[in-house]
Amino acid sequence: MNYTSTRNASLRFSSSHCFVQGISEEGGLFVPESFPVFSEREIAALADVPYSERAFRLLSRYLTDFSAKELRSCIAGAYGTAFDTPAVCPLRKLDGKTFVMELYHGPTLAFKDVALQILPHFLRIAKQKEGVSDTILILVATSGDTGKAALEGFADVDGMAIAVFFPNQGVSRMQQLQMTTQEGKNVFVCAVNGNFDDTQTGVKEIFTSPDVRAKLQEKHIRLSSANSINWGRLVPQIVYYFSAYADLLRENEIASGQPVDFVVPTGNFGDILAGYYAKRMGLPIRKLVCASNKNRVLTDFFETGVYDANRAFFKTASPSMDILISSNLERLLFELSGRDDAFVSDLMRQLKETGQYRLPDVMHRALTETWEAGCADEAQTARAIRDAFDRFGYCIDTHTAVGYAVQARRASDVPTVLLSTASPYKFPRAVLSAVEGTAPEDEFAAADRLAQLGVPMPDAIANLHDKAIRHKTVCEKATMAQAVLSWEGETL
Ligand SMILES: *Cc1c(COP(=O)(O)O)cnc(C)c1O
Repeated sequence: MNYTSTRNASLRFSSSHCFVQGISEEGGLFVPESFPVFSEREIAALADVPYSERAFRLLSRYLTDFSAKELRSCIAGAYGTAFDTPAVCPLRKLDGKTFVMELYHGPTLAFKDVALQILPHFLRIAKQKEGVSDTILILVATSGDTGKAALEGFADVDGMAIAVFFPNQGVSRMQQLQMTTQEGKNVFVCAVNGNFDDTQTGVKEIFTSPDVRAKLQEKHIRLSSANSINWGRLVPQIVYYFSAYADLLRENEIASGQPVDFVVPTGNFGDILAGYYAKRMGLPIRKLVCASNKNRVLTDFFETGVYDANRAFFKTASPSMDILISSNLERLLFELSGRDDAFVSDLMRQLKETGQYRLPDVMHRALTETWEAGCADEAQTARAIRDAFDRFGYCIDTHTAVGYAVQARRASDVPTVLLSTASPYKFPRAVLSAVEGTAPEDEFAAADRLAQLGVPMPDAIANLHDKAIRHKTVCEKATMAQAVLSWEGETL
């Protein structure tokens, strides 16, 4: 399998190259040259095997430059013991046709662990294959969960370093503490005065600055990305769509070949795009439902065909979805346009220059065949948490609740899987206020109260309270590059 770029479809690279490089030189995103297709029989056979084997069968079709032994070692390293259940991404039945896939059983309690536990293993092997002896410095802009998941994956990995930027006051207290208490000799964590889009733009500017690259090159350091634009982030996420389907088959909830819907709380469009890739690979997915919070830029895009980032930015109780520029949408545009790199380049230029673009009508109409979109404001999100708790005795986090609210309004008789993207313990005050109408000021007190209500507290939260804060740096968007350069000078 080779990979090309959404902005230059004449390029051809191995997966190792894409992992190490992160983003294509002209700014495009790496995409597989084609989608390997799984037959109905191959899909049915996944029902009988554990998650690690499901991962192996799917990933080996994409990472064809990895040997079976290498790939199995990556999978064992990522999913062997780091998740608190052997199912890795367990499915739970809510009612007759609604299921929740819990993606938060990894060390940082958000779905991003599924990809970020395996990415360092991919990179370690890809580095060898590409003959890269330089240290790889992973740069991350985070809206909350990516940062911690990347830190946890990359801390103290030989030959790698990691720098994480998060929007100051743009993440929950638990998220912030998870990051600022991170241990490891190769980690840098910095708050940026601005919102997530400022932070993400700042990181992109560091990547494209020849000056920064030259300075790092002198020290044998090269940059890569662990943001969801990296192919190594996306490809492990395809696995759990197949895994959910395999679980439904195993539990006799569906018959082989029967279509299902997936509802996905969405921000940067990585998670749901993996679902689209799964569909292209033959998984019987009928609809992909894109659920947004009050920052409803994607809902509007699917409804009108106009992507318009020129709008007020809202801070919500689901901060990991507070995004106005959903980077991975570029990959969908590439497929939608019949892999027209010039078309994609033009839309991305318009987005950069004017903050918006419009899809041609035929393309917009084609979207509705597979895609649905909906959004939930803050009150609807809170009501969803309350509703799930009252009806099913089931506690969901603020991001999952956005998907729950959108699903509750749909009229569909197709079995539906809602992706649960974070543990409620990452946002205990917001969750508790939704459930009980009130919550203590302190996040940890709120967490204790959730535990009293019978929601099992993960060890990662219980241990966080007493950890020392190790990272206190704050910078401006304009001084992010400087912050990286002065840090690596001290540390590497
Ligand atoms: C990152 C994140 C999302 C959004 O996922 P995307 O891949 O960016 O669309 C949703 N929920 C949680 C908890 C997240 O951490």
